[in-house]
Amino acid sequence: MLEIKNLHASVEDKAILRGINLSVKPGEVHAIMGPNGSGKSTLASVIAGKEDYDVEEGEILLNGENIDELGPDERAHRGIFLSFQYPVEIPGVSVTNFMKTAINETRKAKGLDDMPANEMLKMIREKAELLEIDRKFLSRSLNDGFSGGEKKRNEIFQMAMLEPKLAILDETDSGLDIDALRIVANGVNKLKSKDNAVIVITHYQRLLDYIIPDYVHVLHNGRIVKSGPKELAHELEAKGYDWIKEEVNA
Ligand code: ADP
Ligand code: MG
Ligand code: MG
Repeated sequence: MLEIKNLHASVEDKAILRGINLSVKPGEVHAIMGPNGSGKSTLASVIAGKEDYDVEEGEILLNGENIDELGPDERAHRGIFLSFQYPVEIPGVSVTNFMKTAINETRKAKGLDDMPANEMLKMIREKAELLEIDRKFLSRSLNDGFSGGEKKRNEIFQMAMLEPKLAILDETDSGLDIDALRIVANGVNKLKSKDNAVIVITHYQRLLDYIIPDYVHVLHNGRIVKSGPKELAHELEAKGYDWIKEEVNA
C-alpha cells in the first residue's frame, strides 16, 4: 500500500529525514516512536504532502503510484488521512455540517455528485453509533470549547467518515489523558480492517497497550534505526532511547 524508499526531506534547508525506508501493507498497524525532534511529525507531514517540506531524494508510492507531485488534497482523495489535518475549530459550524462538507468536497474532487442527504444521515448515524458518539455531540459547534477528549472524538469521527486507506495519527504533542487515549484506541481498533492501514506516531508506549501494532519503528536523527515487534515498545518504555542511540553510534 505505502512504500517509502530512501526518503530525504528538509525544512527551510535543514535536513530532517535522512533516508527513510518503510513498507506498509493493507491490514497492518505500524507504530513510529523515537525521541523528540527525531522527525516523526515531519515524516507524517511529508507523507500527507504538506507544502513546507522539500523532498530531496527518494520516493513515496501509494498503491504503486508515485505521489511525490501530488498536493495534500489529492493525497487525501487517494485515501491518506492525517490527524489534525482538518480544522478542529470553526465557529458556528457543527461537527455534522463540517463532515458533510468534507465528504461532498471529496466526492466533487472525484467527479461525484453530493451524497444524497438520507445516505449521509445514515452514514453519520452508523459511524456515530460505532464510536459511541452521542447525537448532542454531533450538533456542537466546532468551536465550542472542546476538551482534549472531545477533540480526539471529533478527529476519530472524521477518520471514520472519510474511511481512509492509510490513517496517520500523530499523537506526540497532544498530551493525551487516559480518556482521550481510549477514544483514539477504541476508534482505531473499530475502524481497522484488512483493507486499510494505520501508522500511529507516539511518544508513549501507553497508547500501544490499547492499539496493538504489528511493527514498531524507532526514528532517530531522521532515520529508522530499529524495527521490531510490539515488544520493542515495551523495551523502549523500560530502557528509554539511549541504548538505541548507542547502538547506532557503535
Ligand atoms: P518529532 O515529531 O519527532 O518530535 P519533528 O518532525 O517535529 O520531530 O521535528 C524534527 C526536526 O525538524 C526538529 O529539529 C524541528 O525543530 C525541525 N522542524 C520541524 N518542522 C519545522 C518547521 N516547520 N520549520 C523549521 N524546523 C522544523
Ligand atoms: Mg516534537
Ligand atoms: Mg512530533
